[in-house]
Amino acid sequence: MFEQPLLQVKNVTKKYGAGCQKCAALHSEVMIKNYCPVCRTVYACRDVSFDLYSGEILGIVGESGSGKSTLMQCLYFDLETSSGEVYMESSEWQGENLFYLSAKQKRSIRNSKFGMVYQNPIHGLKMEYSAISNIGEKLIAAGNRNVKEMESIGNTLFREVEIPLFRSKEKPLHFSGGMQQRVQIAKALSNNPPILFLDEITTGLDLSVQANVLDVIKNIQVEYGVSMIVVSHDLAVIRMLADRTLVMLDGQVIEKGLTDQILEDPQHHFTQQLVYSLI
Ligand code: ADP
Ligand code: MG
Repeated sequence: MFEQPLLQVKNVTKKYGAGCQKCAALHSEVMIKNYCPVCRTVYACRDVSFDLYSGEILGIVGESGSGKSTLMQCLYFDLETSSGEVYMESSEWQGENLFYLSAKQKRSIRNSKFGMVYQNPIHGLKMEYSAISNIGEKLIAAGNRNVKEMESIGNTLFREVEIPLFRSKEKPLHFSGGMQQRVQIAKALSNNPPILFLDEITTGLDLSVQANVLDVIKNIQVEYGVSMIVVSHDLAVIRMLADRTLVMLDGQVIEKGLTDQILEDPQHHFTQQLVYSLI
């Protein structure tokens, strides 16, 4: 691929604690998984680097606690990153490390360039607002003031994610889990962002509902050409969606490549376990 990556992520680290000389080296011997018993620092994610290309779906797979959500939250500016860089192509911030931008600039990027779908819809939706108001809220945050237009965008998106329009004035609180996730997806898409973060969005849903949400994601990717980072502990989900995949363990990336290659010829013993458990 010769094109420039849309998003370049370099050496992102999020640690809880100050760190010490014993755990300063990346593959330090004292570490117990992501934890330094000497200074009690947790490296929730450590030295993570990757590129995201335009229109691709990048998968991130790893067991619970491997740092996937932390990484997503750092990239979406929910969390303050300890160190690292992130660059976005073709934006007014091109060439600038986005982590160094002001809170206001970060808010603007969240509202216009990024969409986030959380594992728990409580984090992505206002449960007491109607479904359509949730879309409105995001559009207003991005500067839209035209009610008719917002309603029309909302209805188009609901059609896309298969929310019956007659339910658009209801609160997501009263929706099923799968429907709540579909409203979250619609909300994340409402400003037509080039980049979507999806964190374990089908975890906890029934298999048939899972399949439906994944179908919605695939259709959206084709139709909107949006780049996505899809996080899951479940390799089956990643296999269904992702062109390329990173495997995380204890906060670090232990393997990366084309999803097909990783499935056919996993290198790290942890990845091998993941792959064999699929069969
Ligand atoms: P995943 O999403 O892959 O399950 P997380 O990103 O949620 O993993 O968590 C990564 C690691 O960071 C876990 O070991 C978790 O316990 C730790 N962690 C998360 N938040 C904190 C915190 N506030 N203080 C200390 N450790 C934390
Ligand atoms: Mg998580």
